[in-house]
Amino acid sequence: MKEKCTKYEALFTFADEVTLKEHLKVCEDCREEQAKMDKVSELISEVKPFYKKKRTAPHHLKVACILFALVIGGASIGVVGTNQDMMDYIKYGETLSAEDLGFPVDSYGLLLVE
Ligand SMILES: [Zn+2]
Repeated sequence: MKEKCTKYEALFTFADEVTLKEHLKVCEDCREEQAKMDKVSELISEVKPFYKKKRTAPHHLKVACILFALVIGGASIGVVGTNQDMMDYIKYGETLSAEDLGFPVDSYGLLLVE
């Protein structure tokens, strides 16, 4: 039994069209492979219009993502800006106690109210 030709994939991938066609003329196995590929190509060209339509969706999605990121980013900046402890933590690496801020405190570090 004659071994099946395995050149098709290599020719299809690496060789030019002329070389592939020349081989197809003399090789039945590869003609079969070519027929399969033609079917796939047909399928692809059938699906293409749908695919192209879908391609516009990610653009809107991207814009939505950017807007979402801006909203979330803006919100978290707002939280950091109004949260003094967090600002201290960012600036000094730790949260300042009332004593550090120069307020009179008792031995527990609590604000002394007289
Ligand atoms: Zn072949």
